[in-house]
Amino acid sequence: MALGKVRALHPDFFSDDDLAEASIPARMLFAGLWCFACDNGHVADRSKQLKRWLFATDDVNVAELLRELEDVAEVIERAGDGWIFIPGLTKRQRIDWRYFKTCDRPGCEKPPKPEKSNPERETRRATSGTRREEEPRAPKPVGDGDGDGDGDGDGDGDGDGDELLVADRDPSPAPQPTKPPRPRPDVDRLCNHLADRIHANGSKRPAITKAWRDSARLLLDRDGRTEDEARRAIDWCQDDEFWRSNVLSMPTLRKQYDRLRLAATRATSHQPSRIQQNLAVVSQLAAEEAAPHPIGELT
Ligand SMILES: [Zn+2]
Repeated sequence: MALGKVRALHPDFFSDDDLAEASIPARMLFAGLWCFACDNGHVADRSKQLKRWLFATDDVNVAELLRELEDVAEVIERAGDGWIFIPGLTKRQRIDWRYFKTCDRPGCEKPPKPEKSNPERETRRATSGTRREEEPRAPKPVGDGDGDGDGDGDGDGDGDGDELLVADRDPSPAPQPTKPPRPRPDVDRLCNHLADRIHANGSKRPAITKAWRDSARLLLDRDGRTEDEARRAIDWCQDDEFWRSNVLSMPTLRKQYDRLRLAATRATSHQPSRIQQNLAVVSQLAAEEAAPHPIGELT
């Protein structure tokens, strides 16, 4: 059985005009697709697999039902690339960014982290000394109520009248990705690695400040990079003639991470474009280095 995701069903599911065009089995299939889709709304377009997952003991033709959802209700899209896309899912669910689920479809990526997290929640998390670390609470959607009776005692009875069809709910006791300042060997390793590499390139070994550690922690916890990815980014930029002179701190590494990643990708495919790209970012980097690092967002 594939790993699904708990998604609470919105009452509008039963009165939605588009869905009302479809048969009851098709509607049930649609609800099932939500549970097995990634958070970008993709499900493998494999009717036999879906049959096993959703209608194991039922005499239904999933291929037919999929056509119904596509052509009659028009709630799914199939580009013929082996994947079903559910446009409504990406619009109507609220996702806890920390538990964003992606799939194997090419290009399916976790989106950039939300610009501003809820400062009130951040404050609560930072000041709560009683909450157990390993039980993070996903932020509840506004108007969230309880009453799904599924045993977890935490279902959505969303009553705020917005367009939510299915609210997001992650069932797994997911690992805590955001922790208050505590011993973090991974953070220390990354900071030391960057400092070592800068030093090895002939500069004075930079001091590992709180801003460094905070940036490394956010890179891992909030931006969702793995330690290995971050380490490769450090190695890449310190091996690169242009970038090594511009990335001289962990806050800058974090700030420039996406650009570094793109540059590293381009460097392998379009060698000449890198020079132009590097020239284009010189002035911006200089300006950003001169400005105070935006670490006010730290918890
Ligand atoms: Zn996906």
